[in-house]
Amino acid sequence: MINGINPLGHSLRWGMVGGGETSQIGYIHRSAAQRDSAFTLLAGAFDVNAERGLAFGTALGVQPERCYPDYESLFAAEAAREDGIQAVSVATPNNTHFAICRAALQAGLHVICEKPLCFTTQEADELERLSAEKNKIIGVTYGYAGYQLIHQAREMIAAGELGDIRIINMQFAHGFHSEAVELKNPSTRWRVDPRFVGPSYVLGDLATHPLFIAETMVPGLQVKRLMCARQSFIESRAPLEDNAYVLMEFRNGAVGSMWASAVNAGAMHSQKIRITGSRASLEWWDEQPNQLRYEVQGEPVRILERGMGYLNARALEEDRISGGHAEGLFEAWSNLYRRFALAIDATDRGDTAFLSDFWYPDVHAGLAGVRWVENCVRSADAGAVWVEC
Ligand code: NAD
Repeated sequence: MINGINPLGHSLRWGMVGGGETSQIGYIHRSAAQRDSAFTLLAGAFDVNAERGLAFGTALGVQPERCYPDYESLFAAEAAREDGIQAVSVATPNNTHFAICRAALQAGLHVICEKPLCFTTQEADELERLSAEKNKIIGVTYGYAGYQLIHQAREMIAAGELGDIRIINMQFAHGFHSEAVELKNPSTRWRVDPRFVGPSYVLGDLATHPLFIAETMVPGLQVKRLMCARQSFIESRAPLEDNAYVLMEFRNGAVGSMWASAVNAGAMHSQKIRITGSRASLEWWDEQPNQLRYEVQGEPVRILERGMGYLNARALEEDRISGGHAEGLFEAWSNLYRRFALAIDATDRGDTAFLSDFWYPDVHAGLAGVRWVENCVRSADAGAVWVEC
C-alpha cells in the first residue's frame, strides 16, 4: 500500500518542457510527479510563449530565473548549475518530442515523455541508443497502465488463469471530435495537422494506449502482422484518419483487433481491452477503472474490485486508499511517476538486479508504439493489406 512516503528518501530535481497554463495534460504530470514527493519541480520551459511560460512557472512557485524561454536554454543553464535538474518531463505537441528528448539525453537528463514518443522507428531507435549510451531512462506516459487492475490482469494471465491466450480486442473510440471542433479548439487543431502529429491521428493519439495496456497484461506480446483501414469522416482531416480498424496476428498465436476513433458520436472514452483465453476472459474499461470483469466459461461473471484482499499482492502494492473508495486517473499516473522515480534512482545507482524485474513504460514501449503506428499507416495506405511487422 502506498501512503505518501517518498520511496527514494530523497527528491529528484525535476523540470518540465510544455504543460503550460492552457495545456490539457500538464497538471496531471505535476500532480502525479509530486504526489509522493519523489520529484520537486524546480525549472521549466512551460510554454511555447516565453512570457506566458514565465508567468505560469512563477505562479507554480518556480524561481523566475529558472523559467526559461525554450528547452535549449533550460537544458544549458540547468547543466551549468550544481543544483541543476536531474530529470525532465516533455508535455508538448508530438512533433517536438524527438528533438527535445534527444537534447535532454545529451544534456545528461533522465526523460519522461508523452506518447507517441516520436514519429519514426529510426527516431525511436536513436533515442533508445542514446538512452543506453548516456545511462538515462526514458519513461513514456501511457498513464492508464498505472491502474491497479491492469496489473491484476497481468498476474492472472501469467498464472495461467485464462488458459492459452487466443483473442485480444482493443478499442479507444471517443466521440469528442465528431464535428470539426479543431476550427475552434487549438488543442485539437494540432492533433489533426500532419506537421504536428506526423503520419496519423487516432492511431498514434488513441490506439497506442490500449495497445500498451494489452502488452502490459500479456508480457512479450508481439504483433507478427497486421492489416489496417483508416477513414477521415471529417474530410478536411485527410490524410489523417479520425477512425481506424486494425486486425492483428500475434507471435504467440493469438489474434486481435483495434478500433480507434474520435468520431464515435455520443461515446466518452470507450477504451476497452478484452483478453480471451482458452478457459476464461478478462475485460477492463477505463470508464470503470476500479473493476475488472473475470468471465470463466460456464460460471457466473465475477467483478473484481480494486483494493480488495483477494487481489494479487503485486497489484495491491500500488493501492492508495483500500477498497470501496474510487481511485482514478490521477492515482494511476502517480503510480507511474513513482515507478519512473524508482527506475531513475536504480539507474543512477547501477542497480541492474532491481531493474531486471521492474516494470514501467520505458523506451522500448515507446518504440513499440511508434513501430506499430508506422506499420498501420503502411498497411492502410497500400489499400488495407496485410503487412509483416
Ligand atoms: P496542448 O496543446 O493542450 O498543450 C501543449 C503545451 O505545450 C502548451 O502549454 C504549449 O504552450 C506548450 N508548448 C508547445 N510547444 C512548446 C515548446 N516548443 N516548448 C515549450 N512548450 C511548448 O497539448 P496537450 O493536449 O497537453 O498534449 C501535449 C502532449 O501530451 C501531446 O504529445 C499529447 O499526445 C500528449 N497527451 C497525452 C495524454 C496521455 O494520456 N498520456 C493525454 C493528452 C495528451
